[in-house]
Amino acid sequence: MNAPNASGWKPELGPAGSAQPATSSGDKGLQLEEPLIFELGTGANYGVDLDEPEAPPLAALGRFLRKDKAALPGLTEPEAVRHYTRLSRQNYAIDLGPFPLGSCTMKHNPRLNEKMARLPGFADLHPLQPQQSVRGAFEVMEQLGHWLVELTGMASVALSPKAGAHGELCGLLCIRAAHDARGENRTVILVPDSAHGTNPATAAFAGYKVEAIPGTKDGRVDLEAFKARLGVGGPETSDVAGVMITNPNTCGLFEREMKDISDAVHAAGGYVYCDGANFNAIVGKVRPGDLGVDAMHINLHKTFSTPHGGGGPGSGPVVLSQALAPFAPLPFVTRDADGSVRLVEEEQAAQDSPQAFGRMVAFHGQMGMFTRALTYILSHGADGLRQVAEDAVLNANYVLRSLEDILDAPFAASGPCMHEALFSDDNLPDGFSTLDVAKGLIDEGFHPMTVYFPLVVHGAMLVEPTETESKQGLDRLIGSLRAVAERALAGDESLKSAPHYAPRRRLDETQAARKPVLTWQGHVQPPATPIPSEIGGS
Ligand SMILES: *Cc1c(COP(=O)(O)O)cnc(C)c1O
Repeated sequence: MNAPNASGWKPELGPAGSAQPATSSGDKGLQLEEPLIFELGTGANYGVDLDEPEAPPLAALGRFLRKDKAALPGLTEPEAVRHYTRLSRQNYAIDLGPFPLGSCTMKHNPRLNEKMARLPGFADLHPLQPQQSVRGAFEVMEQLGHWLVELTGMASVALSPKAGAHGELCGLLCIRAAHDARGENRTVILVPDSAHGTNPATAAFAGYKVEAIPGTKDGRVDLEAFKARLGVGGPETSDVAGVMITNPNTCGLFEREMKDISDAVHAAGGYVYCDGANFNAIVGKVRPGDLGVDAMHINLHKTFSTPHGGGGPGSGPVVLSQALAPFAPLPFVTRDADGSVRLVEEEQAAQDSPQAFGRMVAFHGQMGMFTRALTYILSHGADGLRQVAEDAVLNANYVLRSLEDILDAPFAASGPCMHEALFSDDNLPDGFSTLDVAKGLIDEGFHPMTVYFPLVVHGAMLVEPTETESKQGLDRLIGSLRAVAERALAGDESLKSAPHYAPRRRLDETQAARKPVLTWQGHVQPPATPIPSEIGGS
């Protein structure tokens, strides 16, 4: 692929009237235009042949008997298959190119993970199967839990939460249960202002009041501000139940004063929740338990490479300190003294786990994710996992130092970053925004980085190149980001209407968020496929 030439860049496929002719299908080569399935279907075709229903059962439906035809799209099997296959080709995927979304940690999912997760003994399990028939699954869960506990230096783990945010809730419910057990009613959770939105949302959902603590100007937690807020009242009367801190934080920086923060929180009778979404930067290097953390979720779909939501469910196990371990939710697996592994469910709770706060999920968590994560861990080994963290940090610093001359990097002066490089819109000329850079990057063939997060940096661009990106791959990404930034600096107006090469231009994201249209409101009448009057449409 040609390296983009910033000075010579000009959009070849411009708006209508320029070089790109319209097509009657709306498709442009292999870039396929795909209407909604309801717009495609005539309603006349079905993929299955059903027998004519007999009269008596229909009569039994009484007033529930349908009067109109069901509003189904009505496609033949090949039409339906094509529809979804065409849609699937519109996805950008980690298997197509880098996905530099900061904070989200979009890692390559090694195929070995998939091979293991699809073994019938794991993939075909039913959660209500007799326990003696799923010993292997328990073994996988116990081994995974063992690694997570080892790697984090904590006392125990609750595997069942189904995502990072769900893990946050699990951790806060453990904190609440611990305070309840001491007869304390604490109402406040402190959160730094750079936190991921899920942190305050979780605390509020769990019924706490959320107080934001401002950061320092070098992008870290303000220890003194925390201490000042904690100090109010002292341990007996403090209203602070705990703090939620992300480490490495959302600015891509390690919180060096984490141990001091933990000590201060503990002295005030509170607990420390660590948002472990960025654990991939320190796995094998730092054990959060040594920093005084009481609860931390681990996004298996970030640190341990399993697919995110759309590619499969997420998974957010929570590791717990000795102080919180007794309150962990049911069910969980445990290894007995004789080496055998068994499930602790509600029947055994009175004896094995009398203080468990309840349960997070109906069954046991995401078995497929457990298998993938354990596969990833075992195939890397302890030394391999450490190298994962080192390479992720190396890659991010390469991006940071390669672009800091052209994009403002607010914290670059305070030293190396961790696994993600943070830029701001400070350098961009008037009239150009972070959004323009992100959209320009789409034309370059990349999924954009995370934009406008963290909120503490104006026009933030958070780039996370995971450890598997090669130097050549990084150079391409850097070259593209540089080219787009140069177009902005040169005042190239075409950047403001990018992307030009995607099926759509700028979408009205505000309208989409405020007034989402979530159901098909027309009826089976398909509109004629419009011939695009403007390339790219909108
Ligand atoms: C991803 C992320 C979360 C939430 O995790 P989910 O699995 O998406 O629920 C929380 N905090 C940070 C910093 C994250 O990056």
